[in-house]
Amino acid sequence: MKPLLEVKDLKKHYPIKKGLFGKQVGAVKAVDGVSFSIQPGETLGIVGESGCGKSTTGRTILRLIEPTAGEVLFDGQDIRKLPPDEMRKFRTNMQIVFQDPYASLDPRWTVQRTLEEPLRTHLKLSEAEIKDRIAELMSVVGLAPYHASRFPHEFSGGQRQRIGIARALALRPKFVVCDEPVSALDVSIQAQVLNLMQDLQSQFSLTYMFISHDLSVVKFICDRVGVMYLGRMVEMAPTAEMFAEPLHPYTKALMSAVPVPDPEATRERIVLTGDVPNPQSPPTGCTFHTRCPYVMDSCRQAVPEWREVSPGRHVACHLFEQ
Ligand code: SF4
Ligand code: MG
Repeated sequence: MKPLLEVKDLKKHYPIKKGLFGKQVGAVKAVDGVSFSIQPGETLGIVGESGCGKSTTGRTILRLIEPTAGEVLFDGQDIRKLPPDEMRKFRTNMQIVFQDPYASLDPRWTVQRTLEEPLRTHLKLSEAEIKDRIAELMSVVGLAPYHASRFPHEFSGGQRQRIGIARALALRPKFVVCDEPVSALDVSIQAQVLNLMQDLQSQFSLTYMFISHDLSVVKFICDRVGVMYLGRMVEMAPTAEMFAEPLHPYTKALMSAVPVPDPEATRERIVLTGDVPNPQSPPTGCTFHTRCPYVMDSCRQAVPEWREVSPGRHVACHLFEQ
C-alpha cells in the first residue's frame, strides 16, 4: 500500500544567537533528521520524554512550524513546496488536536463559533449547510447539538476535548496529529475519549499520528510506535513487537518504568541515571551515550545509523550494526 504520509530527514533547528549583532553561535536541534512513513488508516504513536521533539515533529509535518530541512510527502505531494495559497487549501487535509482543551479553545467563543470558524474560512457553504455540519459534528463526538450556544467554561474537561476533536474534524481531514490529547484529562475520562477517537477513525477513515509520553495509552491506541530521544528517532516497530521485545536501550529504559502486569514475566530492567542532556550542547555520537548502560567507545564518536533490523523494525544503535 502507498503511504499517506512520508517524512524524509525532517529537521527543525533553532539558531542560538549571542551578542549585540545576534551572531549565531549554534543551534538547538529540536528535530534532527527524522524519517518515517504512515499508512492510510494507521495510528502511529510517537513517544519520548518531554522536550524530545515529539510535538515539534508533529507541528513541522503540518507546517504550523516551518521545517529547517527535509521532505513531507502527503499522498506523494511535497507539501513544503506548496505556495501559501495552495497550502491554505491543503490544510483541510491535515488537522491537529491539542493537549490542553482549556488553552486551545477561545473562552469568549461559543461552541457554535468555534466550529463554524474553520468552515467559513475554508469552505463555501450556505448558512443551512453550516448549521447542519455543526449539528453533525457535535453528535459524532457525543455532544447534544443544543449545547452549541454554550461557552467552554460550561463544559467538563472531557467535553471540552470532544469540542477540540469536533473542530479538528470540521473540514473532514484525512490526517490528524493528536498531541497528547488525553494527558490533561482525568484517568477515568481518558478511556472514553480514546474510544471515541478510535470510533471516529474508522467512521471517517482517519490516519493518526498520536503523540504521548504515556506508554499505556500508546499501547492501547497505536498500531506502530516510534521512540524519540533528543530530536532523533531511536526505534520504530509495530506496537505488540515493541512492547514484547524493545531493542534500543532507551526504549528498554522507558518500558522499565511501566509496571509489568504479569509478575512471572521477566523483562530486562534498565533504570536511567542522569538527566536528559542540555539540547543546546547534546552529546557527540549517539546522544544517548551519557545515560546508556551498554555504551561502547564507538558510541561517543559515531552517530548510529537508522536501519531496518528486521521487517518493519527500525533501530538507531551501534549494538545492532554488524
Ligand atoms: Fe547505547 Fe551505544 Fe546504542 Fe547509543 S549506540 S544506545 S550509547 S549502545
Ligand atoms: Mg509536547
